[in-house]
Amino acid sequence: MTEQTVMMAHLPSQMKAWQVTTPGPIDGPQSPLELVTKPVPQPGPGETLVRILACGVCHTDLHVSEGDLPVHHAHVTPGHEIIGEVVGNGPQTNRFKLGERIGVPWLRWTCGVCRYCRSGRENLCPHSKYTGWDHDGGYAQYVTVPEGFAYRIPERFDSVTAAPLLCAGIIGYRAFERANVPAGGTLGLYGFGGSAHITAQIAIDQGIQVHVFTRGKDAQKFGLQLGAASAQGAYDPSPVKLDSAIMFAPVGDMVPNELANLAKGGTLALAGIHLSDIPVLNYQDHIFHEKNLTSVESNTRRDGEEFLTLADRLNIQPATTSYAFDKADEALRFVKQGDIKGACVLKIGED
Ligand SMILES: [Zn+2]
Ligand SMILES: [Zn+2]
Repeated sequence: MTEQTVMMAHLPSQMKAWQVTTPGPIDGPQSPLELVTKPVPQPGPGETLVRILACGVCHTDLHVSEGDLPVHHAHVTPGHEIIGEVVGNGPQTNRFKLGERIGVPWLRWTCGVCRYCRSGRENLCPHSKYTGWDHDGGYAQYVTVPEGFAYRIPERFDSVTAAPLLCAGIIGYRAFERANVPAGGTLGLYGFGGSAHITAQIAIDQGIQVHVFTRGKDAQKFGLQLGAASAQGAYDPSPVKLDSAIMFAPVGDMVPNELANLAKGGTLALAGIHLSDIPVLNYQDHIFHEKNLTSVESNTRRDGEEFLTLADRLNIQPATTSYAFDKADEALRFVKQGDIKGACVLKIGED
């Protein structure tokens, strides 16, 4: 259509943004995060500029801030569950109109030509780029996104409620698919934060019996409120053998118990991008009887579209705790403690 950048009038040139200055413990003497002033980013060809309304706080932001994930972009702004309003379009960009509300997710870009991209598995693209890791993300007032990787957000969700759908929801959905739960089967969820509490709703809506395993007493209670059949500690034996299980906690020590709790032929999907070492496994106790162990890497755009459609249809309700924009480090410390009811979300701009 147009070769020119189209921007709303009266956009400021500077914005507030958090950045990871020196990765380290979020609960240490010096926070790795710093609130700074940066130029508002300019959308390049194919990119949309978004004024941010809300941004979810994901466990992966903690991995980026603490240095569990290697630095991909020095002084990166974390955050990849972004809801915002389109305020600009770069050259050759016309998917979204100014004023539209869109979501900016973790998967920022894939190459489109490698063997994975061409076989419907762009989540495995070796050239992929991620929001809030390779490129500045949503702990800021503005962000750019390649237009093909953003999502339209169903109207039923307000911006704070919609934010956790973009990673917690989408990754949970992919993990749920990877876990291969049989119709009417049993599913164990290990760790019960932002992702698990959304996945639980999808599973329970389909008549699957859900069992929650987490150290957090409030999280256990919350699981039962959502309709889980049982809730217990992360290392406890399961009250029934499980057809499938998803591990959301980044704790490799939990894996042997998770495998032991599986029924014959069961599947365990490890949903995190980072996991501490898995202890030695015993073939008879953990793997024999055709048990399957798989990981989950990011998601495809198709997963995202499918999940958002499903979330709208099932009226999935993420539970959120709002934090003011200037309390991002506090929100991350809360996420690290791991006893959250649902997901934390930064409120950044006015709807
Ligand atoms: Zn590719
Ligand atoms: Zn995430």
